[in-house]
Amino acid sequence: MNLFTESNLSPDILKAVGELGYESPTEIQKQTIPFILSDIRDLIALAQTGTGKTAAFSLPILDMIDDTSRKIQFLVLCPTRELCLQIAKDIKNYTKYMPNIKSTAVYGGSSIMDQMRSLKEKPQIIVGTPGRVIDLINRKALDFSAIHWLVLDEADEMLSMGFKDELETIMRETPETKQTFLFSATMSKEVERISKNYLTNPHRISVGSINEVKKNIKHEYYVAGYRNKKEALKRLIDSNPNQYSIIFCRTRMETQEVADFLMQNGYAADALHGDLSQAQRDTVMKKFRLKNIDILVATDVAARGLDVDSLTHVVHFSLPDDPEVFVHRSGRTGRAGKDGISISLIKPEESRKLKQIKSVTKIEITESRIPTGEDIIKAQVAGVFENLLEVHEDYFDFNDSLIPDLSAFTKEELVHKLLQFQLKDLALYYKDRQDLSEQKMSNRDDDRGGRDRDRGRDRDRGRDRDRDRGPRGDRDGRSDRGRGDRGGKPRQRDENMTRFFFNLGKKDQLKKLDVLEIINKATSSKGSKRAEIGNIEILEKFSFFEIEKSYKNELLGNISSMKFKGKDMRAEEAN
Ligand code: AMP
Repeated sequence: MNLFTESNLSPDILKAVGELGYESPTEIQKQTIPFILSDIRDLIALAQTGTGKTAAFSLPILDMIDDTSRKIQFLVLCPTRELCLQIAKDIKNYTKYMPNIKSTAVYGGSSIMDQMRSLKEKPQIIVGTPGRVIDLINRKALDFSAIHWLVLDEADEMLSMGFKDELETIMRETPETKQTFLFSATMSKEVERISKNYLTNPHRISVGSINEVKKNIKHEYYVAGYRNKKEALKRLIDSNPNQYSIIFCRTRMETQEVADFLMQNGYAADALHGDLSQAQRDTVMKKFRLKNIDILVATDVAARGLDVDSLTHVVHFSLPDDPEVFVHRSGRTGRAGKDGISISLIKPEESRKLKQIKSVTKIEITESRIPTGEDIIKAQVAGVFENLLEVHEDYFDFNDSLIPDLSAFTKEELVHKLLQFQLKDLALYYKDRQDLSEQKMSNRDDDRGGRDRDRGRDRDRGRDRDRDRGPRGDRDGRSDRGRGDRGGKPRQRDENMTRFFFNLGKKDQLKKLDVLEIINKATSSKGSKRAEIGNIEILEKFSFFEIEKSYKNELLGNISSMKFKGKDMRAEEAN
């Protein structure tokens, strides 16, 4: 099947697809469309966003759906609202010439009453996030008795977001006779487990770049200790002028901290993470797509909803645990035939993690030196000329009368002056700054116990906080995010405790007493024995708390179904 016209899809679908400009099917479509059209087995497809997977599962199902029935036949579950809207939009496009087919998107963060109203129109297709689908099941607003096809899209992401129970409930609530198609970028243990329990004799397809690393991406790593990391990042940004990049962080708090640091230092940057409201996230994504900002600091999950082709760099501000996530993140650059650069910032004690990523992915990641002030100025000068040579047209009327008498200067002197003028601030900033490149990877740190390492990290954090408070204007962390109420003193972490990020904060009128109550409620199954509770930090938009390690799973299992003043609660282990 090299052309859509060679597939057995109906003329209505082919016409819609043709209008979208699809000519030949992508790899996943070539494998999936004939399978779904002709086979009754379940399917596991390893494929990432950007491979054309939405059309791969939708087109053959749309071809077989019964448009005379007004019952839900096709259910797609996906992790985020953005993806949900994207899939629903794609399906609307594919069904442009199928007037009797209706689809509805249902997702959290939006009026459930409106969604219940649109369900009254009896769509045959539902695209939803697991939490909202469960809500609607509980309200008896969904009849799943005629479901024929269930798609779990980005199953790995849904599981890592903690939707395991919801997925299992939905799979149980849908008829046994359905066909289940599981799409996932990675085959994590959880995905394997859920496939084993809920899929029958699945056919397996693997496409795209999971182990197929893009050759046009150059991978570099830089060693920087915790307290130098943001400064190292600044230098890397300054030495790559004209970049359009995503900086990946591990937690929401880290994402916000890095974005605040960049914004305070004058960069056109912003943060994208799950603690922002939907409207804020939409605005940030729009600004980035329009290039009103050229640096986006994001968590892996939040960045999923964003599809941009022209990224010059991907920065791993923190390394992911899963090597496949590293490949996935990096693959966001080097698209559409362009070259890309993937930059990793590595703490000295992370050599083992880096080695693991290198050995699993077979990617060559070369060590580079954090640029000095001199390197940065050179790169900036080159950037200015690169921009100058890109100017091919006049944007305003220019005539010699606009230029004062410059006959006292040679051409070289004028260029020199212009560059000095243009780069003055940067040059002053880097004058006499310390070289950050002397730090080396150390296996010694790796071999130390986790406890010592944690203490070291906390010590570094303490120093970093102190430094942020320094008198220098350019380093003055104006936001109090991340400092907590411990007065900036380094604190040793108790290895019997687990620290959690919690999505509510002062803005939600959360008090320490509330957190204590929430923890007690979420960990009350061991009868009268209560979880030991450690430090609680309530920040503006979110909080942190520590509890006894043995209660971790119980807390995580319960908290996502609890509410505080009507708001959903989310906790995740903080590192
Ligand atoms: P997806 O992986 O489903 O997110 O799709 C990635 C992008 O590829 C979307 O913008 C689709 O509209 C587009 N796309 C999907 N299939 C094709 C195709 N066969 N030819 C051209 N573009 C496609």
